Amino acid sequence: MDGKRAKITLGKADWNFDNSYSRLPQVFFRKTNPTPVRLPKLIVLNETLAVSLGLDAQALRSTAGVAILAGNQIPPGSLPLAQAYAGHQFGHFTMLGDGRALLIGEQITPRGERSDIQLKGSGQTPYSRRGDGRAALGPMLREYIISEAMHALGIATTRSLAVVTTGEDVIRDTEQPGAVLTRVAASHLRVGTFQYAATWGTIEELRALADYAIQRHFPFVKAEENRYLALLHEVVRRQAALIAKWQLVGFVHGVMNTDNMAIAGETIDYGPCAFMDVYDPKTVFSSIDTEGRYAYGNQPDVAGWNLARFAEAILPLLHVDRSQAIRLAQDAVAAFSAQFQYQWLAGMRAKLGILNEETEDETLIQDLLGMMKKRRADYTHTFRSLSLNRPGDDALFGSEEFSRWSERWQARLGRQKEIREASQQLMQQSSPERIPRNHRVEEALEAAVQQGDFSVMGRLLQALARPFAHLPEYAEYADIPPTSNRPYRTFCGT
Ligand code: AMP
Ligand code: MG
Repeated sequence: MDGKRAKITLGKADWNFDNSYSRLPQVFFRKTNPTPVRLPKLIVLNETLAVSLGLDAQALRSTAGVAILAGNQIPPGSLPLAQAYAGHQFGHFTMLGDGRALLIGEQITPRGERSDIQLKGSGQTPYSRRGDGRAALGPMLREYIISEAMHALGIATTRSLAVVTTGEDVIRDTEQPGAVLTRVAASHLRVGTFQYAATWGTIEELRALADYAIQRHFPFVKAEENRYLALLHEVVRRQAALIAKWQLVGFVHGVMNTDNMAIAGETIDYGPCAFMDVYDPKTVFSSIDTEGRYAYGNQPDVAGWNLARFAEAILPLLHVDRSQAIRLAQDAVAAFSAQFQYQWLAGMRAKLGILNEETEDETLIQDLLGMMKKRRADYTHTFRSLSLNRPGDDALFGSEEFSRWSERWQARLGRQKEIREASQQLMQQSSPERIPRNHRVEEALEAAVQQGDFSVMGRLLQALARPFAHLPEYAEYADIPPTSNRPYRTFCGT
């Protein structure tokens, strides 16, 4: 992407901003400055991420550096703006936009990559509606912990650079410490951004947005005869790969509204998300998802539904003839389900140490999942035990049924030429030992928010940084949570 690339040395953090989004037509954003906060204090800084962005961690920790992360100072080269977007929230279409976040610029990294730098919780914007534009410390730390855990699990995601407290309280159910999260993303283009353009923009504005998305994420489709159809295919492909990875680790996003689906294929918007413990496709954590619309087992279907909304939005770009455009869109979206299934099956084979393909594999996998559901087996623990060849004596592993299944599985492994070690290694690389278990996340947040003790979170972050390594010293993070008579509930990240 062209445009100005001023190297900024003021503050010495090495912010190196471009602002390509601000060169889109005016309807897509409103220039808005962050609202300064009383007393910024750095709580956590992601040094590894800072370095990969070309930022100086030491400078980010300084008073001047923290002032920027709090929105009290605007670094040179930054052009803060709130992005416009719409979205289907639980199926209902509405106008949204950044109500409590601002894009402050696109950092050009030393490797020449472009990352959105966004402050979340930085004050009101023209899109705030009745919201205060602020964020509470607990949910921002939760986003930090889970997004970084997802990254370590090898899942495409927005990242978290820092969390600062503001020295001001925010009013939610109770008064809570306010905070600002610095979010890093390939971009913040959403399905909802296209829905906004299709609903309230002109065809030229919609085309400008699509061209921008292509330039930014899929430049290789520019040469295609129908580049917008190629864009649709690419978006479908990335979502199929992403949702398969969610399913394979038991991640429940919780609020898969179309404004929370990123065109670049990254997991975005860590509100009510959580990892499933006991395997059950009906698992829902979000307190507002009373119908189970976004339950674990529904995620692939919902992704397909969201992609249909994306296809609808770009319909006029696909073909001048509307019925032809619809046909192209339907075929492209229909491909999602086979692509998802292919990726999921490949991932499941890996989790069972299977290196070649047999048609019966899917039955073998479904039979295991069926037993896990019936016997309320812990999803992560079951697969990790299999990978370590250490079946426990719980309800699943102790059963007659499991022994019979295990014999079939061993026979299946015997029908591939690779040695047993290769198979076991693949399994251990495919089934994490540690995920951000709900009780561990809650414990870290409680220590941080109630006691101002960030050491619990620090140790949790360490435990989650290498989720596939066998680390006995972090055994407590791999343990199955104590059974509770209360289901775990999450709330939209406010
Ligand atoms: P989300 O549930 O995070 O996807 O947010 C949905 C919409 O609500 C987005 O337009 C947000 O910007 C907006 N929003 C959420 N919380 C607040 C807040 N505290 N103040 C203003 N807008 C908000
Ligand atoms: Mg959102």
